Amino acid sequence: MAGAAGRPATLTTSPASHPTAPADALFLPGPVLLLGAPGVGKGTQAQALVSEFGIPQISTGDLLRGNIARGTELGLKAKEIIASGMLVSDPIVNQMVEQRLQADDTHHGYILDGYPRTLDQAMFLDRTLSESDAALPVVAISIVVAYDQLLHRITGRRICPACKSIYNIYFNPPKQDGLCDLEGSQLEQRPDDTEPVFAERMKTFEEQTAPVVEHYRALGRFREVDGDQPVEAVTAAIKSALLDLRQQGRNA
Ligand SMILES: [Zn+2]
Repeated sequence: MAGAAGRPATLTTSPASHPTAPADALFLPGPVLLLGAPGVGKGTQAQALVSEFGIPQISTGDLLRGNIARGTELGLKAKEIIASGMLVSDPIVNQMVEQRLQADDTHHGYILDGYPRTLDQAMFLDRTLSESDAALPVVAISIVVAYDQLLHRITGRRICPACKSIYNIYFNPPKQDGLCDLEGSQLEQRPDDTEPVFAERMKTFEEQTAPVVEHYRALGRFREVDGDQPVEAVTAAIKSALLDLRQQGRNA
């Protein structure tokens, strides 16, 4: 969510960069894990890296929707589980990721966004990658933003139902309270953008995903990036961390 930060939301990454650009051919990003709490901007940053390096962004949400839409065996199982009101289990998510990582477009690397979410998923991924003939090891980049800042990003978010403009009452307020600058519509808050919902998601993150961050920190090939900066500065910090990690890999 670019607008969620209430920061300049536009990405200035050149749309011209693609996998065959000469500058990119010199650098293979390899497998990259983007980790971080809800609202740190993983999706936005993944998009920026996709444009920069021409590698795919792989998110479990997309995989799930794609498998269900195509009616694959895994998709049918997942659909049944979701219909019964349960959460799709690790083994199904793992198998979807494993299949996706075998696609041809992953050879120069990929960004995994929202996976691994649990230590079990991380172990599975490590095993899968160690058994593959991938040229480069996985690197993990954790985007860090303080709790209160994330809380304001999410609970301050207001959306115009007419033109879909996104405001934030703390960082990017409309000129008139509660009204869209463009056509004056009454701004709305999404039902999930509340403190109780956010607190619950953070609790899940702390319980399930914080150990994943610690797992990759302990393995090395890990960097933390300050996510409390304008979107472009975060992107630059991630790119610099990635170059550094790959350099380190070559010298090791
Ligand atoms: Zn509007």
